[in-house]
Amino acid sequence: MDYDEMLDRGIEQTPDIEGSSERFEVPEPEVRQEGHATVFENFQQVCRDLDRDEDHLLKFLQDELGTSAHIDESNRARLTGEFSQGRIRGAIEAYSERYVLCSECDLPDTSIEREQGAEILVCAACGARSSTSS
Ligand SMILES: [Zn+2]
Repeated sequence: MDYDEMLDRGIEQTPDIEGSSERFEVPEPEVRQEGHATVFENFQQVCRDLDRDEDHLLKFLQDELGTSAHIDESNRARLTGEFSQGRIRGAIEAYSERYVLCSECDLPDTSIEREQGAEILVCAACGARSSTSS
């Protein structure tokens, strides 16, 4: 993360932080079936809410749901197969726990760094560093 991004995050996130009792809310996916595919309508917005790369979340969804997926021309995620909203939401919750929420303080003020090929979740709130694969 460069300095400008840190400034942006600081400005964006300051109003949201109202003490440590506030729980992070997993964004609700908007999902609809289209033939034998599942269209994840607000995929881009969810990535923004989670502050994570689209490719990173998409890859996780593919692994978690055991299917293939791609981002279409309208920036929606299209998953092969029929998945309910609850199933997609569950996958996003799992993603959040692993890649967004700090394992120490539970705040979502984190970023992913790469260290010797491993992904490390770095928390800006408490300074914790933890491997995302554990
Ligand atoms: Zn933390």
